[in-house]
Amino acid sequence: MLCIQCDDELSAERVQLGYTDCLNCSKVDKYASHTIYPHKTGGYVQPVSSEKSDELKRLDRRSVSGNKKAKGIFADKSWDRWLEQYNNPTPKKPKFVPKSVTNIYIPYRECIKSIMEKYDNYGYHAACELTQSLYSKDTISLIHKSKVMNELASLQMMTSKQRKWMKNK
Ligand SMILES: [Zn+2]
Repeated sequence: MLCIQCDDELSAERVQLGYTDCLNCSKVDKYASHTIYPHKTGGYVQPVSSEKSDELKRLDRRSVSGNKKAKGIFADKSWDRWLEQYNNPTPKKPKFVPKSVTNIYIPYRECIKSIMEKYDNYGYHAACELTQSLYSKDTISLIHKSKVMNELASLQMMTSKQRKWMKNK
């Protein structure tokens, strides 16, 4: 690629940016820019020639910052940072949606009481079955179920130990 004005060789960067003339012949005002809004969510600045910039400003009424001359956005690299953010936007945090409470459990004390009564009258397995059925019917929570099951197991172990101890006496 050669400069259309003086036939000097153009740098690869300038060709990539769409320039057809070299830096010396360039009519592009150093800071002239035009803001383009591709998806209405954000814009990017496209370097254009001064005449083209004025023309675009007349055409684009949505352009706000584009009407002002951008100062040093290329110099201080804020343009690079902006583009980086534009290409890799930080994902929005998902909204916290609390789970709806569908089951209202009976109080823990109340369920323990009925399970212990079952244990006293019908034994360990009957008490376990009752606990399991209460859980199946959504009357107690899983946490309470396992809590009760643990308690029943330790209770059962205690009594079997006691029985042993009684026999040895
Ligand atoms: Zn030139």
